Order: sequence, then structure tokens, then C-alpha cells
Amino acid sequence: MVHASPFRGPSGSGGPLSAAALGTGTSSVLDETLEPVYQEVLARNPGELEFHQAVREVLESLGPVVAKHPEYAEAAIIERLCEPERQIIFRVPWTDDSGQVRINRGFRVQFNSALGPFKGGIRFHPSVYLGIIKFLGFEQIFKNALSGMPIGGGKGGSDFNPRGRSNAEVMRFCQSFMTELHRHVGEYTDVPAGDTGVGEREIGYMFGQYKRIANSYESGVLTGKGLGIGGARVRREATGYGTVIFVEEMLKAKGTSLDGRRGVVSGSGNVAIYAIEKAAQLGGTCVACSDSDGIVVDEAGIDLELLKQVKEVERGRLTSYAERRGSARYIEDGRIWEVPCDVALPCATQNELNHADAMALARNGCVVVAEGANMPTTPDGVRVLMDAGVLFAPGKAANAGGVATSALEMQQNASRDSWSFAQSEEKLAEIMRAIHERCADTAAEYGSPGNYVAGANIAGFKQVADAMLALGVI
Ligand code: NDP
Repeated sequence: MVHASPFRGPSGSGGPLSAAALGTGTSSVLDETLEPVYQEVLARNPGELEFHQAVREVLESLGPVVAKHPEYAEAAIIERLCEPERQIIFRVPWTDDSGQVRINRGFRVQFNSALGPFKGGIRFHPSVYLGIIKFLGFEQIFKNALSGMPIGGGKGGSDFNPRGRSNAEVMRFCQSFMTELHRHVGEYTDVPAGDTGVGEREIGYMFGQYKRIANSYESGVLTGKGLGIGGARVRREATGYGTVIFVEEMLKAKGTSLDGRRGVVSGSGNVAIYAIEKAAQLGGTCVACSDSDGIVVDEAGIDLELLKQVKEVERGRLTSYAERRGSARYIEDGRIWEVPCDVALPCATQNELNHADAMALARNGCVVVAEGANMPTTPDGVRVLMDAGVLFAPGKAANAGGVATSALEMQQNASRDSWSFAQSEEKLAEIMRAIHERCADTAAEYGSPGNYVAGANIAGFKQVADAMLALGVI
């Protein structure tokens, strides 16, 4: 069961991985009109492997669409979609607790605003570089379209590593980051949120700095805020809850449900915790989760209160969970996808579920894989799962509940309103059911019934493409 962690780059942190390391080598043939577009993306964005991967994955679905709609090619819609509207890269200087000056790099990629202001999270992780922010921003365009909310796509972040940093260091970093970012964001321009390494604490510090610089309490400039400073109920839970609601819809379409099912979830951060919670509410039991050092297998079912205490309150490691829970085993560098399950939810990071992992899941009888994280499954992993008849939900559909609830936060901020938990949760469930239906219907309409990858890519793309046509060449 013990393998090397798939997460680590060649140097243990930071920087792009090779295509071989990413497990993205095998690929299917692109439509002949789309291949030159893809080649142009490769040439214009050298070394940005995750971005190449995200673009290719969308283009692979679009053959039937461009055949049916020549107007998209005539207006160079896909070429324009692959080029961000604006990319901002900036220096983030800050001082650590020992008085040493540190420098990180900040990014904001404002990818596409055809449907509304740019919207997408901020990631703090040492692996962040332009290629990761562009892949995330590109995915975000289609996800936001699928959510049905009036928001465009963007993403930001920094190679800052919050792990092991004091609260004061994190605050100084966030303030410095926002000191530059503030001139590029706004309620009608670009509305960032959290992502890996950025939660309510970091959003609070960034909002505080924005408010100070702008001399204006513009709640709508950031989402994912704490409840006391304009945040929305269910935003914290939304991505994990939404992913599991999507799973329930997929199973319902097959005449079954999550009740009594065994789940395995990678990661133990925001998305993972609330996926485990919603799965339990729907009668499932999650028996394993992970962090970047190892995995915990807990046959009695993950103890959510303990997990929240360790991860949210203490900001600790999973070793600490295992030490306090008799039924749990900790396996350093363990492979989570080898733990047998009915439902697998990758909720950690990109390319964490590869070909061999997919083979293990299929072999062990897994029936559903739903991506709580962004692009966690490698292309060859997706192929293995789909060929084996495993139901597969791509992140841009399955994890869209987070950004959809962020848009609800924007709505509440704009109207100075605050909805109840029950009302917000019902709205999230409604949105997830609608996304599921739209993906399923679009896949069937374009000749791939049951293929949620095709359904999500085509439905998201068409909505953005039609808006771009209406807006003219801009
Ligand atoms: P968190 O920072 O809260 O948690 C991330 C978890 O995944 C941690 O357990 C972390 O382990 C692990 N992890 C993350 N990146 C890596 C890496 N490169 N290598 C090893 N382990 C890693 O992030 P979130 O839960 O918010 O996000 C998880 C995923 O979900 C990301 O792909 C994100 O883009 C996606 N997502 C998040 C949304 C949100 O609302 N938060 C919305 C939609 C998608 P460790 O602590 O050891 O680093």
C-alpha cells in the first residue's frame, strides 16, 4: 500500500512537473479543426503543462460543437477563449517573524468576463506558477457558466507556503498581496475568493487591507468572508456539499443512492471535510482521507468532529488525528486510491489520481468518482474509469457549488441581506441538481449519453461562446 506521494514535484515543492510526471502522456485525437488551435496554445504558452492539459481536455469534447456551429470558428471564439483577457504578475514582499524580508510572486489571471465580472479563488501553495493559475482560470470560465450565475472566470495566487507560518506572518503576507491586488479587483471587475491555502482567515486579512486602502466597506469585492464581516452561510460547506449532492444525483439517475455506501476522500482541507460531512448526512461512510504526508484509514468512519478540531482549529496534521483515534491507522505516503470504496472523491489537488490509481479503483469495484478538486484526475486516469463504466463527474461540474454559493454571497452583499442556513443550502442543492441535469441533457444531445465530461465541457463552452458572439470582437 505504500508508494511515493504523487503530489510532490521533482524538488519536493514548487515548479512545474514534466508531462511524464503528470501522467498526461496519452491522449485521444483532436478534431482536425481544433488541433491547430491546440498547437497554437502550446507554442504561445511554453512550459505551462497544467494549462495545456486543461485546454486539451475541453477541446477534446468540442468536435461535435464546432461541426454544428461554424459561427464559432468564424469569430475565432476558441482562440480568444484560450487567451486570458489580462494577466497580472507582481512582487509580494513581506517580513517574517525574525525580521527577515521575504519575496514571493503574486498572480491574478483575469481569463474571461463575457458572462460577468471575473470570479475565482486565490491559491497559496509553493507549487503555484503561471501555468497552474492559468489552468485554474481556464477551468473556472466553464464552471462559472455551468453554475448559471452571471460570473466570468479568473484565478489568482502565490507561491507563498502558509504551512508552518505564524498567524502574524500570514497576516503580513495577505496585506502585502492585497496592497498590489486591490487596484485590479472590484464588485463589477473581479471578485476573488479562497482556494487551497486560503480560507476565511486569509480572506479576512485581505478584505481588511482592501477596506483600509479603498476607505470603503465594499463587501462584494471578495467572497468566502467570515460570517461577521459579510460572509454567507453555507459558503464554507458549499464545495464539499455540492460535490456530494452531484454524486447523489448521478446515483439517482441510475436508480440507486449514497445510502450505505463506502467513501474515500483525498485531502483533509475545506472541500474534503464538507464532502465527508454531506456523505454522512446522506447515509454514506467515509473511511479514509489524506494530507500531503500520508493517509488515515478509519474503518469506523472518519470522526468529523475530531477531523475539524485537528484541521480547522489546530491547523495540525493527520498524524494527530490518528494518535487520538483508536480505530484509525496512519500510513505515511500511503496511496489513498487503493483503499476499497464505492465512491471516490479526489478533493486535494491536480493530477493526484493517475492511471494506476484509476485501475485500482475500478478493480476494487468503485462505482462513482467525483472531482471535488480541480483537475485531480489525469487524462489517462479518466479514460480508465470511463472505460470501466465508473460514473465520472469532472470538477467543473461537481465542485461548482463553491463558486455558485460565492455568487449568492455577492447577491446578499449587494442587497445587504443575509439568508438562513436552510435557505442557502436548499439554493445550493437546487443549483447542483440543475448542473447535473444540464450536463446529462447536453451529453445526450451531442451523442455521448452518460458522459458528464462531454456534457460539462459542451454546456459551459456554448454558454460562454454565445455571450462572446453577442459582445462582438473584444
Ligand atoms: P485546502 O487548502 O483547504 O486543503 C487542501 C488539502 O489538499 C489539504 O489536505 C492538503 O494537504 C492537500 N493538498 C493540496 N494541495 C496539495 C499538493 N500540491 N500536494 C499535496 N497535498 C496537497 O484546499 P481546498 O480544500 O479549498 O481545495 C482543495 C481542492 O479543491 C483544490 O483543487 C481547489 O482548487 C479545489 N476547489 C476548492 C474550492 C473551495 O471552495 N475551497 C472550490 C472549488 C474547487 P496539506 O495540508 O498537507 O498541504
